[in-house]
Amino acid sequence: MTSTLPNPLTARTINTTTALKPAVSAQIRQRLQDAEVPFLANDNISEFLEDGDLDNLEVEVADKVRDLLRSLVIDIENDHNTAETAERVARMYLREVFKGRYLKQPKIASFPNVKKLDEIYTVGPISVRSACSHHLVPILGSCWIGIKPGQRVIGLSKFARVADWVFSRPHIQEEAVLILADEIERLCEPQGLAILVKAQHYCMKWRGVKEPQTSMINSVVRGDFRHDPSLKAEFFELVKQQQSLLSH
Ligand SMILES: [Zn+2]
Repeated sequence: MTSTLPNPLTARTINTTTALKPAVSAQIRQRLQDAEVPFLANDNISEFLEDGDLDNLEVEVADKVRDLLRSLVIDIENDHNTAETAERVARMYLREVFKGRYLKQPKIASFPNVKKLDEIYTVGPISVRSACSHHLVPILGSCWIGIKPGQRVIGLSKFARVADWVFSRPHIQEEAVLILADEIERLCEPQGLAILVKAQHYCMKWRGVKEPQTSMINSVVRGDFRHDPSLKAEFFELVKQQQSLLSH
């Protein structure tokens, strides 16, 4: 039985060292509050991180996850399966599934639209992965982006990169689509932009109502797609064609 207790010596040593300086998360929070910048679950805070912060956050988050596991009455000292779960979960949150909060936007070059292209095109399906802000369980789905080019153009693969960056944060789907639309508008200033996202919410599949087939579809239309109903209809028709390509 005694072997399940945390080593008091180790625990005391950790507490003494961390007591000297505020936790790294507290330092980052202070910078954000001083600058009056929001740090909601789906905000990117990369500008407020200094060199080494992410490594230190990984240590801090792992400590908290270890506490969470202990509070769940899991014997992490003796269970070989969960012995390093805290480190794995911390790394997963900060470096993978929520990396869109901590890392800067991937470098995306845009080019002048020299040929004055103004025909619409769609890109999709682009896989998107997120987690609900309410329970931190996965949201997995696909995204289609429709563009009527404006002053600048970006490469097709870049849409996937920016979508991955935006979705890799805790979200609700409605806001994720709006944030993605803002980023794409910033990158290439299109005359028209339409985005459709269809996703499965593990919030509903794994827990709660446990409804495995339900998905959520939502869209945002801006610029010419909003003002011209035929253009909007063309976007949804193109998405339908791209979807039907998948079943062949
Ligand atoms: Zn949820």
